[in-house]
Amino acid sequence: MVMNTNWDIAIVGGGPAGLGAAIYASRSMRKTVIFEKGVIGGQIATTADVDNYPGLRATGPELAQRFEEHAREFGTEIIFAEVLSLKKVDDIFVLETTDGEHTAKAVVWAAGARPRKLNVPGEKELTGRGVSYCAVCDGPFFKGKRVAVIGGGDSAFTEGLYLLNIVGELYLIHRREEFRAQRFYVEQLKAHPKAKIITNTVVEEFVGDKFLKGLKIKNVKTGEESFLEVEGAFIFIGLEPANDLIREHVDLDENGFALVGEDTKTKTPGLFLAGDGRVKPLRQLVHALADGATAAMMADEYIRHLESVWSAKKFG
Ligand code: NAP
Repeated sequence: MVMNTNWDIAIVGGGPAGLGAAIYASRSMRKTVIFEKGVIGGQIATTADVDNYPGLRATGPELAQRFEEHAREFGTEIIFAEVLSLKKVDDIFVLETTDGEHTAKAVVWAAGARPRKLNVPGEKELTGRGVSYCAVCDGPFFKGKRVAVIGGGDSAFTEGLYLLNIVGELYLIHRREEFRAQRFYVEQLKAHPKAKIITNTVVEEFVGDKFLKGLKIKNVKTGEESFLEVEGAFIFIGLEPANDLIREHVDLDENGFALVGEDTKTKTPGLFLAGDGRVKPLRQLVHALADGATAAMMADEYIRHLESVWSAKKFG
């Protein structure tokens, strides 16, 4: 019995983990597809400057393009479609997508994570009208203007540093005194003449009608409330894993991250999870690529085993 599928390895997500997996999978002569519902490159496609990938300095979009070209060179196909469901029927994975139904012998789930929302009044209404989650995409609209960045992690600082090349004044608002961000970034932003850091402060409301006019903020230590006039607000308060569609196939922790180890194997044979969607101590480009490579090689090994079982059934 040899079962036919469209694909050997279907990769869900065209970020660094998915592209890393694609390069390794297609280079191993596996018929490989990436499903991407947005843009290729994932988070790096909206990252201004990648300055910690060993031996290489480039903008995020440049790097994403090079990864894509590399994957295509080895034969990876990229389908711009959203995956709507994933089922395993006998030994075969069935992916319902906006491009129709696809089948695969193995799946690498590399859907990553999306920006977390603050969930305060005005945020939803003013998104795209001053409130943003992407400095590279929206920063140029705020040339010479006064903006706020919300968050205290690496993203808030690196994106804040990028925005400082464009905006007139920048307020970084963080809910605590200490930062998660690497000190390297914190010191650079602190030293910048156009930047001001406001700690122990939360945003209570985004205020505006057609466009953002400012933020209602509150000092959590003193309880003092004030209004900060800004035309742009960039929210970088972490990530939420995009694992909703694989809940039944994978064990998740209380925040929705997949409980898989370095081998990227899930509890469902043939399904591997690579990149930011899994529990891991460090979410970095270099790590996502490595995860993708591991997942592809594990998928390759899994398919070899699967095919030997199929041919044993056929001839046995
Ligand atoms: P992160 O490291 O999880 O930091 C999130 C920040 O947002 C924290 O400071 C957190 O505050 C704050 N926050 C969370 N929920 C909040 C809320 N409801 N209200 C106000 N503040 C809130 O997320 P990230 O900065 O997006 O980074 C994600 C991952 O990518 C990290 O592993 C990071 O190292 C990596 N990354 C690396 C680089 C680089 O190395 N160049 C660049 C970007 C991202 P608390 O600290 O109080 O929890």
